[in-house]
Amino acid sequence: MNTIKFLGTAGARFVVMKQLRASGGIWLTLDGTHVLIDPGPGALLRCLSSRPKLDPQDLEGIILTHRHLDHSNDINIMIEAMTNGGFKKKGVVFAPSDALQGDPVILKYAREQVDHIEILKEKGKYHVGNISFETPKQLKHGVETYGLNIRGKNSTISLITDTDYFTDLASFFNGNILIINVVMLEDRCNIEHLCLNEAELIIKENKPRLAILTHFGMGMVKAKPWEIAEQLTKKLGVQVLAAQDGMQINIDQYTK
Ligand SMILES: [Zn+2]
Repeated sequence: MNTIKFLGTAGARFVVMKQLRASGGIWLTLDGTHVLIDPGPGALLRCLSSRPKLDPQDLEGIILTHRHLDHSNDINIMIEAMTNGGFKKKGVVFAPSDALQGDPVILKYAREQVDHIEILKEKGKYHVGNISFETPKQLKHGVETYGLNIRGKNSTISLITDTDYFTDLASFFNGNILIINVVMLEDRCNIEHLCLNEAELIIKENKPRLAILTHFGMGMVKAKPWEIAEQLTKKLGVQVLAAQDGMQINIDQYTK
């Protein structure tokens, strides 16, 4: 089965550090390939406590959209877990260059444990197992950050990770399933994150088969994202879901 499993739905500092929502990232199973996207704090714990358990050794790749801690905190332990403690050299880690240079979030010794590392770049095209993905556009987020279009045989999953809104943002992410990190309820101009109104604009423009809101900051958590998603579904005529910790989506229900 092709699935997206949310090992966390927390976004930004406060929801993450208080663990009001978990922050383990997204486990994607597509065409027999398992990848983990953005293993934030608790990713390993969330894999092992999932029912059924997710075995990190099944992973063929780990994708990091950017270096912020709520996305990268568990990347080193997930590399160790994917490679059986470093004894089985395998898997690919995909990350922006600033996750590896200067003040790197991926430790040098952990890099030796994987088959190889690929640097994400704007307009990049990548393969892992049976999946291909693209990073069509560098997002606006202070550190080097990329959204993803992940392609399987029958479906494309787009992830708009942390970013400030910009005019043609939606046009780069046309997956039939669209995951959007919606940190803020209201727009705060000085913070490079999407707010609810901006997510709505994107969904309205792209009309995916399914839109999933996730990566919630405090304002969003308090505003009951599941109610917001229901309202948006009615308003836009597009199925919108608010991700919950542990939620699993059957991708095949939403193929074109
Ligand atoms: Zn971020």
